[in-house]
Amino acid sequence: MLGQMMDRQLLISSIIDHAARYHGDTEIVSVNTDGSRHRTNYTNIRNRALKLASAFAGRGLKKSDRVATIAWNNYRHLELYYGISGAGLVCHTLNPRLFPEQFNYIVSHADDKIIFFDQTFLPLVEGIRPHLPNVKSWILMEARNDELSAKHDWLEFYEDVIAEGSDDHVWPDDIGETDASSLCYTSGTTGNPKGVLYSHRSTLIHAMMSATPDVMNFSARDCLLPVVPMFHVNAWGTPYAAPLAGAKMVMPGPGLDGASLASLFNDEKVTISAGVPTIWAGLIQHLESSGETLPHMKRTVIGGSACPPSMIEKFRDKYDVEVLHAWGMTELSPLGSVNNLKNKHFELPEKEQENIRLSQGRPPFGIELAVFDDDFNRLPEDGETQGDLYCRGPWVLDEYYLAEKGTTLRDGWFATGDVATLDGDGFMTIRDRSKDIIKSGGEWISTVELENIAAGHPKVSGAAVIAAHHDKWDERPVLIAVKADETATEAELLDYYSGKVAKWQIPDKVIFVDDLPLGATGKILKKELRQEYADCLKSV
Ligand code: AMP
Repeated sequence: MLGQMMDRQLLISSIIDHAARYHGDTEIVSVNTDGSRHRTNYTNIRNRALKLASAFAGRGLKKSDRVATIAWNNYRHLELYYGISGAGLVCHTLNPRLFPEQFNYIVSHADDKIIFFDQTFLPLVEGIRPHLPNVKSWILMEARNDELSAKHDWLEFYEDVIAEGSDDHVWPDDIGETDASSLCYTSGTTGNPKGVLYSHRSTLIHAMMSATPDVMNFSARDCLLPVVPMFHVNAWGTPYAAPLAGAKMVMPGPGLDGASLASLFNDEKVTISAGVPTIWAGLIQHLESSGETLPHMKRTVIGGSACPPSMIEKFRDKYDVEVLHAWGMTELSPLGSVNNLKNKHFELPEKEQENIRLSQGRPPFGIELAVFDDDFNRLPEDGETQGDLYCRGPWVLDEYYLAEKGTTLRDGWFATGDVATLDGDGFMTIRDRSKDIIKSGGEWISTVELENIAAGHPKVSGAAVIAAHHDKWDERPVLIAVKADETATEAELLDYYSGKVAKWQIPDKVIFVDDLPLGATGKILKKELRQEYADCLKSV
């Protein structure tokens, strides 16, 4: 017997229809590439997204064709999210920080038909265009500019494409909720980048759960500023979850430095934000030196890499901002877990509460986590036994795009590549990436833990711990640090570890560098550090 409820499909277009109908005058503020601010609302975003969909139909694009973007967080990018997926096409967000060869590989692999891009990326586009003959249209996300048009006869303009669309277009009715909606490639630290193809259904369920109180807690009274770029796992799904809740959005464009962010947060009365730890380190540095505060901001989601405890404390104690430490992956759309305590935890002593707050949190409904040993035996969830972290759920990847069938999962579980512990309430603590973890004399040492401690030292502004080869112990930890204060010495940093970790876990050496190498998504490229410093203990 089937249920007798309406079979209304979960489609991305339904989110923007809802936002336009019930939150139509809610503002979307964005910073243009020239730094000026633009103001629009959900009604306009929806109407212009429909015009885009109409223009795509007029250009003969077929269902599920890929249309790519190379763009900052701004209102046109939001229109493209809805216009492309709403039209039954696949919105493929490209990360502009990739190398040109990676671009060429990804665009060819995805077979993108159109590429929309922001003015900042015109030089990049000029470089890659000759290698990508299958891309039919290159569209600059601006109004027509005759000077640029005279210089580049291949260039088209966004506002002209909008003008092509009809005013009374409706969303096509041949789209099902399991149809593909958007595509992201993972950073690809090893081998070629891999595509993760989301569906309307996975995106909607993910957005609905993201908005719930124990996850990001979005409401129509919130103002969200996603610092996380729309080219990195769909800005963690926030461009779907915020309109679904009717929240105001502030799109920061290219300026993600501390001063620009602080003025946007305060001028626009932003209540919630989301981004990687490196961004927040920049904001905190700015606040500390300028004396500015964040009077409207209530909480921020921090994830993408481990959030140092010192950052959580600083936000809470000095700026009255609650940090929601979250863990996720491109393959998980990206939400996997968020740290929110339960009632019973508030009865624990302060120190024990702190320890729970430092974990990556617990999974929301929809995500199941488990730890397994090397032989795929399920390990106890006792908060102590660490193993390979696996996961499953309706917004978790089944296969990589165009990968050989049946090669991705193990008994229906997706291997995250992280090493973690789980406790009985589902609180998960990442101990390491499987490939980053240090095995010293048969004992595991967590680089995340050592990095978090170093990041809390006032004379350190950046820290990465890598495994260096060692004759006796096989591997030993080495701290690569960036000085916040020129007087920092190796001895005082090593001393700082005393009493915080076991003696044998303290790094053998500190190497000071000017900068840490960052990948396209702002994560530290440990592979590069290992290549350079893995043998630094050999002569010892
Ligand atoms: P990506 O798909 O590029 O977002 O990378 C996902 C990986 O980032 C995860 O598998 C983790 O290794 C790492 N990661 C994400 N969030 C966190 C976090 N809160 N703490 C530690 N590692 C994280």
